[in-house]
Amino acid sequence: MSKYIFVTGGVVSSLGKGIIAASIGKLLQARGFKITIQKFDPYINIDPGTLNPYEHGECYVTADGMETDLDLGHYERFTGIQTTRANSMTTGRIYKAVIDKERRGDYLGKTIQVVPHITDEIKERIRFLGDQQGFDFVITEIGGTIGDIESAPYLEAIRQLKWELGKDAVCVHLTYVPYLKAASELKTKPTQHSVKEMLSYGIQPDILVLRTEKHLDDHLRMKVAGFCNVDLECVIQSEDMPSIYEVPVNMQRQGLDAAIMRKMGIPVGETPELGPWNRFLQLRRESVEEVRIGLVGKYDLQDAYKSISESLSHAATYNHRKVRITFINSETLASECSEYSECDEKSGHTEPTDDAERNGKSAFAVLCAQDGIVICPGFGQRGIEGKILAAQYARTHDVPCFGICLGMQMMVIEFARNVLGLKDANSREMDAQTPHNVIDIMESQKNISQMGGTMRLGAYDCDLTPGSRVSGIYGHLQVSERHRHRYEFNNLYLADFELKGMKCTGRNPETDLVEIVEIPDLRWYIGTQFHPEYQSTVLHPHPLFMDFIKATINK
Ligand code: GLN
Repeated sequence: MSKYIFVTGGVVSSLGKGIIAASIGKLLQARGFKITIQKFDPYINIDPGTLNPYEHGECYVTADGMETDLDLGHYERFTGIQTTRANSMTTGRIYKAVIDKERRGDYLGKTIQVVPHITDEIKERIRFLGDQQGFDFVITEIGGTIGDIESAPYLEAIRQLKWELGKDAVCVHLTYVPYLKAASELKTKPTQHSVKEMLSYGIQPDILVLRTEKHLDDHLRMKVAGFCNVDLECVIQSEDMPSIYEVPVNMQRQGLDAAIMRKMGIPVGETPELGPWNRFLQLRRESVEEVRIGLVGKYDLQDAYKSISESLSHAATYNHRKVRITFINSETLASECSEYSECDEKSGHTEPTDDAERNGKSAFAVLCAQDGIVICPGFGQRGIEGKILAAQYARTHDVPCFGICLGMQMMVIEFARNVLGLKDANSREMDAQTPHNVIDIMESQKNISQMGGTMRLGAYDCDLTPGSRVSGIYGHLQVSERHRHRYEFNNLYLADFELKGMKCTGRNPETDLVEIVEIPDLRWYIGTQFHPEYQSTVLHPHPLFMDFIKATINK
């Protein structure tokens, strides 16, 4: 019989519910249970695929090709378990399913209502993972904040499930305990109100996780326990940590997993070791030397390239380094100089200097101060000239450079323009009339009119060229990586590229699509059409990121 854990949040958003859900998953997994983590997002979009990253950050992609919330990335990075399309739901998808059923006549003449039809659909999608996929624990995170109108159907579904499942369902509620400087006091009132709000929906939280910037003493925890009808051992505090990866250990120390198990009547037993995880944390604490990586992209927002920065961070840790990621706005980069040579002259080939970015240097000078450059994924025309400029700088100065998806495409365009002499080379995405479409629309994408969920999505096989740098990095010749794009390398140009030194070293075995390009004569210059960042986890850092970081250190 599966057990269900609901994770909700109150008071404010951005408390890190995803990290707590992932930590609970991690801790129960360490006890030998088969777990899965699911997220419900209360917006009407069918999936976040059509959302601007400024709305909810990066769009994560599962192996089975679902575009999802970035929290699924945390679930996979923490637990190492792949998620699927059943792990990510939105209100839009729920309503669509219900409306489709109504049109088919499945409801036999009934009036379709939020309760019970929408709530039943939600319940079904929670129980599906337990009943049909046989997980011991299904952890369901509800996006948004309690009190939002959008969350109401989810709370009603949880209320019903808790009633039906009894001990087999618990609710972990996250709140915030602010510190009022003027009064020198930590305040529990917002937590009390948040629990009251939960009670108004008929849900008594079983466990409270209090997010706080300062340590909460027992007296304060006792106060919360008393006011909110929870046991003292069920009031857990989640203080700010130097790294999100410290959170599971902190939660274990306070017995969050044990409290959940006791609530569910499961014998608690020994506390598991978390050996490899702790070794990772130890390495992280010991790493002091920095490696500087410039992320060239157009979204100046921490969450927009979440999986990339986490992958860099995992790889740096295992290379005994701390990664310092500096965002370099590709539009600013392009606006500083129309011609690359102009930029290069101005900078006087700046050697890496500390804190170039903090001293108000130009974006180009900041670029020059990096040990390695990542050219980020993206869509549309805006900012691409800056990415091309970064690719040119890295290629001509032999700076380790990793191009991901659009980043790889920009490496290709730069090479076509400046090495093959095809001045107007471009991607059809940016210039439909380009005479040199070195990046072109995929055949399968030509007749697609609907934007949502129609890209080349999810995991595809990739064959690596024997003897290539990438085959050495991966250590084998067949890999599988996740995709999210519509455009591809135009194979008509491949021979010219290879002749001049940019090689295709990874291709799809069925369609012959170019998946990897590299310039073997350079220190590290690799572009991937896929997104390796979706597969890097704490215990299994991605080999490409590992090797990239190694190259930046050796530089
Ligand atoms: N815009 C490019 C394409 O659709 C690249 C997408 C991406 O970087 N994820 O092919």
